Amino acid sequence: MEEENCVFCKIVKGEVPAYKVYEDEFVLAFLDINPINDGHTLVIPKKHHEDFLHLDEKEIAELMHAVQKVAKAVKKATNADGINIGMNIGKAAGQIIFHAHVHVIPRFENDGYKHWERKHKDKPDFEEIAKRIKENFK
Ligand code: AMP
Ligand code: ZN
Repeated sequence: MEEENCVFCKIVKGEVPAYKVYEDEFVLAFLDINPINDGHTLVIPKKHHEDFLHLDEKEIAELMHAVQKVAKAVKKATNADGINIGMNIGKAAGQIIFHAHVHVIPRFENDGYKHWERKHKDKPDFEEIAKRIKENFK
């Protein structure tokens, strides 16, 4: 998605309203409009990047520093039992907004959500997969 049409860029610029909860020079956090639980917050770099994989080291540091701060505040504010921090990267992973963002989701005992079901029953070739991943650090 182009920067001009990006709804999160518009939130950064104040052109689209949002329930902002935290802001610094580089990062903005606001409530997800369609929350999984009350307090579900998105933390974004103010600069447009398609996803987390496109951020440089400094941007990652700024973003993740803010994510921890936001997670602590969300946990306290909602009295949550736990927090999920997640990112959907790419359409196949469920990404629908192509401006990098981190989900901070308060979780409660017995809130009815489950983790991913393992439908993949066969044991993979761990040796081969680990080798392929190790070869791809650049
Ligand atoms: P995803 O790209 O799947 O990681 O999720 C994007 C998230 O952005 C969804 O949880 C949406 O509910 C949320 N969202 C989309 N538009 C807005 C908006 N204008 N304000 C706040 N949250 C939004
Ligand atoms: Zn954007």
